[in-house]
Amino acid sequence: MIESPLLEKLTGYIGGRWTDNEHGNTFDVYNPATGKVIAQVASMSEDEVNAAIASGKSALRLTSPYSIETRRKWLEDIRDALKANKEEVGRILCMEHGKPLQEAQGEVDYAAGFFDYCSKHIQALDAHTIPEKPKDCTWTVHYRPIGVAGLITPWNFPIGMIAKKLSAALAAGCPSVIKPASETPLTMIALFSLMDKHTDMPDGMVNLVMGKASVIGKALCESPDVPMLSFTGSTEVGRKLIVDTAEQVKKLALELGGNAPFIVFDDADLDAAADNLIANKFRGGGQTCVCANRIFVHEKVADAFGEKLAERVNKMTVGDGINGDVDIGPLINQAGYDKVKRHVQDALEKGATLVAGKKPEELGNDLFFPPTVVHGVNRDMCCYQEETFGPLVPMALFRTEEEVIEAGNDTEFGLASYVFTNDAERAQRVAAGLRFGHCGWNTGTGPTPEAPFGGMKASGIGREGGLEGLFEFVEAQTVPRGF
Ligand code: ADP
Repeated sequence: MIESPLLEKLTGYIGGRWTDNEHGNTFDVYNPATGKVIAQVASMSEDEVNAAIASGKSALRLTSPYSIETRRKWLEDIRDALKANKEEVGRILCMEHGKPLQEAQGEVDYAAGFFDYCSKHIQALDAHTIPEKPKDCTWTVHYRPIGVAGLITPWNFPIGMIAKKLSAALAAGCPSVIKPASETPLTMIALFSLMDKHTDMPDGMVNLVMGKASVIGKALCESPDVPMLSFTGSTEVGRKLIVDTAEQVKKLALELGGNAPFIVFDDADLDAAADNLIANKFRGGGQTCVCANRIFVHEKVADAFGEKLAERVNKMTVGDGINGDVDIGPLINQAGYDKVKRHVQDALEKGATLVAGKKPEELGNDLFFPPTVVHGVNRDMCCYQEETFGPLVPMALFRTEEEVIEAGNDTEFGLASYVFTNDAERAQRVAAGLRFGHCGWNTGTGPTPEAPFGGMKASGIGREGGLEGLFEFVEAQTVPRGF
């Protein structure tokens, strides 16, 4: 069992205190590197979720809103607490998610960056009077908190994903009811433990509910006191939330699945492209929605690029992330592992060749999947159509710019994309043609707190990060004054 000063309680947090878990229901949390149960966490009832919503409602202040200074202080205190406890929060994250320790601790820094960004730009949410005087009135625009927000997060960035949502919600003055993924609730408990000890937010401003997604999702969707949900996860669940909130016309911020194209032209710096692909693809073991999922390489450089990839991939180490010196940890669970295996098998059966990694029949019986590169992928293969969410690099060939833009867009998703070329005009054309919210040019980097990030098409609605993200949880209200 995991021991930590940040995990003294393994229950929910409602109205400024840890819950008692009167029902006694719990669920198990596993370390994917060892397969062992490391904690048993309270699984909460519908009544408790409703109590969390009521407590959020009691913390909402409309007629005498929390001042910008007060909200800035909350954000700064959370940022400072995360930075001061980066090592321990990262250790907990590593143990329940499996990603290498340094990467896990880096995620804590990344999370702190969102609170920092919002604290530094919160002034943008202050009311302003517009310079024109239309209709003989003085028009003031206020940014009102939308109300109690339901924040639902996935397991792949246990602290990063909540930081994006919570920083903007608090900046807006919105109380929240937060539901982490059941694979990784401990990092969230650690965050609540820090907020409990190191901030003086009013009771009910942040509430933690854990347990069955169906119970919690239903309560959040049905409550008239929750006007907004911010969700990161699968497109399947995103669609369900759209349907389940349609009746009440709730505001939704959705960051859903991806199927990122990574395009390498023949004039690209192939070493830089290979380095960037490795850093991008194997982050979190390939379990991120911005990981390159389809690698399109110009036919003239495909063999050379494949060799560079194989060289790098063959040096990578896979193992328990807590040891600190591995590149890739285990996959999150058996279902995730089986999906990657199925994608490799399917690609090989349909004619792709293995450039690096193991054949499916050579794989072991744990969750450690070796980094794998396959060449000769086409649109009939599962790894082209679906998000693999694992350490598989599937390479396909292309000839022309037009063809590769069309191929890149040949997916319902539109989250992240990447293009490697030294021709600036071509890069501009390709970025504009790719219907993706993020398009890295000569970089495989993902999002940052300072810039908006989000999906086009079935990858979602809304943006997180940047000024756009800061405005997600407010409603603009205009007050024209007649005399
Ligand atoms: P993933 O495949 O990354 O686990 P999911 O969409 O299944 O993505 O889960 C993302 C988050 O959404 C998790 O916290 C999960 O528990 C939650 N979730 C799953 N189903 C629902 C639902 N019906 N309503 C609300 N939240 C849900």
